[in-house]
Amino acid sequence: MTHNIATLLILIFSLVGIFVGVLLNRAADNLPPPARRSFLETPRCPYCNSPRPPGEQFGIVSFALRRDKCHQCSAPLKLRAPLVELGTGALFGFLASRFEFGMYLLALAFFTAILILIAVIDLEHKLILNTVSLPATIAALIASPVVLASPNGALNQLNWNLIILSALGAAVGYAITFGIYWLGVLFLQIVNRNRATKIDTVAFGMGDVKLAGLLGALVGFPTIISVLVWTILLGGVGGALIIVFQYVRRGSFARDTVMPYALYLILAGWAYMVFRF
Ligand SMILES: [Zn+2]
Repeated sequence: MTHNIATLLILIFSLVGIFVGVLLNRAADNLPPPARRSFLETPRCPYCNSPRPPGEQFGIVSFALRRDKCHQCSAPLKLRAPLVELGTGALFGFLASRFEFGMYLLALAFFTAILILIAVIDLEHKLILNTVSLPATIAALIASPVVLASPNGALNQLNWNLIILSALGAAVGYAITFGIYWLGVLFLQIVNRNRATKIDTVAFGMGDVKLAGLLGALVGFPTIISVLVWTILLGGVGGALIIVFQYVRRGSFARDTVMPYALYLILAGWAYMVFRF
């Protein structure tokens, strides 16, 4: 009996995740430039600017019915929409299978959704929006007595000192990545001195710095330090794989390939929150 209830909860939570995925797609369509619309506005087709009817806002539905083109200009809809819906549903289901239903699960699901949104916008625009990362950091500080407590702890044992660890985590996250950002700028000035075509991408951008602050608030101090070490390790492995892949495909590699550090940061931070390694 309890087993059935647990399965039902996982199923319900997965469905909630799919619906959250619809909202994430809406945010990823509306918030970034050049659109810069409010989340509440109806998303529009980037080609003909006509508002999306409800059927086009549900990725799984529109792709399943093969109506994956804009009704006005027949520009293809992004495959991202059903992928984000399915991915969010799967992750929410996974979280519900791992943690008891309660404050911790709800908080973790909320921040999982925020991190998915940041990852999607960063993949599509190479941009981390302040309008997402800064409110999320404040939410992480407020939620830290839940997020940094033991996963299945009861509400009456809230430890408010955890807010201090969360704030310290954010501060250390900002400080270390800002240091790396500053070193990157310095490195570029030296490299560009003798280059005809200037490189203008730094390893860690200011968006990554703000993301590291958010993750610091989420995992707290001193864990943020191991999350950053993991990020750099993942970045090294990922970078090596990208170079090997480019070399196999083209016989050469672009020396100034941009590293998707935001994705590695999100991966390392989220993995800590879920697995507490
Ligand atoms: Zn259109």
